[in-house]
Amino acid sequence: MLIPFLDLQAAYRELKDEIDAAVARVLNSGWYILGEEVEAFEAEWAAYCEADYAVGVANGLDALTLALRALDIGPGDEVIVPSNTYIATWLAVSAVGATPVPVEPDPATYNIDPRRIDAAVTPRTRALLPVHLYGQPADLDPILATARKHGLAVVEDAAQAHGARYKGRRIGGHGDVVCWSFYPGKNLGAMGDGGAITTNRADLADRIRVLRNYGSREKYVNEVKGVNSRLDPLQAAILRVKLQHLDAWTERRRAIARAYSEGLRDTDLTLPQVPDWAEPVWHLYVVRSPKRDKLQAQLTQAGIGTLIHYPIPPHMQAAYAELGIAPDALPIARDLARSVLSLPMGPHMQEQQSTVVLDIVVGSAAVGPIGRSR
Ligand SMILES: *Cc1c(COP(=O)(O)O)cnc(C)c1O
Repeated sequence: MLIPFLDLQAAYRELKDEIDAAVARVLNSGWYILGEEVEAFEAEWAAYCEADYAVGVANGLDALTLALRALDIGPGDEVIVPSNTYIATWLAVSAVGATPVPVEPDPATYNIDPRRIDAAVTPRTRALLPVHLYGQPADLDPILATARKHGLAVVEDAAQAHGARYKGRRIGGHGDVVCWSFYPGKNLGAMGDGGAITTNRADLADRIRVLRNYGSREKYVNEVKGVNSRLDPLQAAILRVKLQHLDAWTERRRAIARAYSEGLRDTDLTLPQVPDWAEPVWHLYVVRSPKRDKLQAQLTQAGIGTLIHYPIPPHMQAAYAELGIAPDALPIARDLARSVLSLPMGPHMQEQQSTVVLDIVVGSAAVGPIGRSR
């Protein structure tokens, strides 16, 4: 492969000495569950996110599931989710026994369309669960206003949005609970699974802290039926190292996104649009083309790694056949799945590599000049 979609090993090459030292520190400490290393990361992550509290958990799906449990959402309840998201957003709702109710995105930003939410609210609705998809913040003010109007909680899926800002303020404390994944490929990624929640609500931070650890605050005293979903101290130590480089890595992603947007401006591809209140962190750079499959095949042939986020929307997955939602009932999600393509993107991609990608995309027979009919 000439240019991989994402070079995960590059972060280790860049930070090998620091990461090795952090891992050795944990191994030598003799303390392998929760403890100082996890607490230190939680404090640093909360500060970074401009939130009062952070609680480390085992992964992003658990962060979402525990957030919903802490809000007492369960069987008989509905949670409004985007129709186009990674299936984990929906699975968290199902995991607590509630029903995901999809709302279509604004195709310009790929994020849940706040204007469509009101019509999906029923007497059973308990929460809104927007996703900051591809690293771009969802339009939170109208979402929060709709939640206030109906007395609903807001849980944010920020698994792709580490460091992004909405109207100048970091994602991390707008809604009741904000859920993070540190899956290796995320903008802040561990070397294994990891996750966290951030919140400004002391009550919810406390409940999630107890739920993640067998429902226990004090060893062998169990207040509630909790789970085992703790952030590993080894991962916490690695995340502390990487967090110090996150802003610099985001800047490198922004430079690549700028080069792509500039280089593809005069093509008939649909490019990402950034509202003036959004400061995205470019987890992914997603273009759209009716000839997506042809374009992807040509890039693969040229040795350029691309991915589709996501090829099958949740409502069209066998896992959600039970909801009985026809494919065409959510036409925006259906059509996005047929046309989106994610170009190589990552903090260790070289400027010159983005030039190679651009040359091949612009030269592709699947891509025309702007204005030509498709
Ligand atoms: C990665 C991701 C998750 C799940 O995170 P895991 O750590 O893999 O459990 C949830 N939602 C979105 C939007 C994601 O991208």
